[in-house]
Amino acid sequence: MIIILLGPPGAGKGTIADKINSLVPIPVIATGDILRKAIESGSDLGEKAKSYVVSGKLVPDEYIIKIVEDRITESDCEKGFIFDGFPRTINQAKALDLVFKRLNKDIDQVFYFDISYETIINRLSARRVCTRCGAIYNLKYDPPEKADLCNKCGGKLIQRVDDQEETIKKRIDVYNEETSPLISYYEKMNILTKINADQDLEDRFKILWNRLTEIGVIKNSKLW
Ligand code: AMP
Repeated sequence: MIIILLGPPGAGKGTIADKINSLVPIPVIATGDILRKAIESGSDLGEKAKSYVVSGKLVPDEYIIKIVEDRITESDCEKGFIFDGFPRTINQAKALDLVFKRLNKDIDQVFYFDISYETIINRLSARRVCTRCGAIYNLKYDPPEKADLCNKCGGKLIQRVDDQEETIKKRIDVYNEETSPLISYYEKMNILTKINADQDLEDRFKILWNRLTEIGVIKNSKLW
């Protein structure tokens, strides 16, 4: 199963990806997470990506395509994977099509999470992430049991540097300009399902799961 989660920052792609992953044993490939880890480790890629990520701009396609190509050929990706935050430009989508052609793989479905501007600002300004395991919390809707600590691993929760209001606005502009054209790109390929992301997680998930069942990727609510 290969699925793409598409939508603006704050649409809940990471949360949905984690929920799918808890039921279906395939990896989530979140290019944002890969870049943040590279920055933290001070690697060559991290050094190159840092200024873009911190300012809310897109990291150049050439780096991203290389990251993705390397990742999807790892052994845990054999039965499929979930893309969260990739592709983000038409150029990345076209590069992915070429890679998939070579590897004889197909995208099963693209889920586009449509969300209002107000909800994005509300969600992202209250978002906290665990520095140790990456778990996502929301101070309003899904707060941790102990302030600033992760329920799962006890790691410290922080606000991402790019979740501050000015950078959120920049990321939304970048999304509108560079990523939103992907909606019609995948619509034309007849593999796009639109989900209203202002709804509760359970309702969003139900639509996604039903669609995967409908197209035969998940049988009797089981993957294999
Ligand atoms: P995310 O965690 O998906 O919100 O991504 C955080 C940041 O990482 C973005 O604002 C970009 O700077 C960078 N990034 C993540 N994925 C991509 C991508 N597919 N193409 C370019 N930049 C990306």
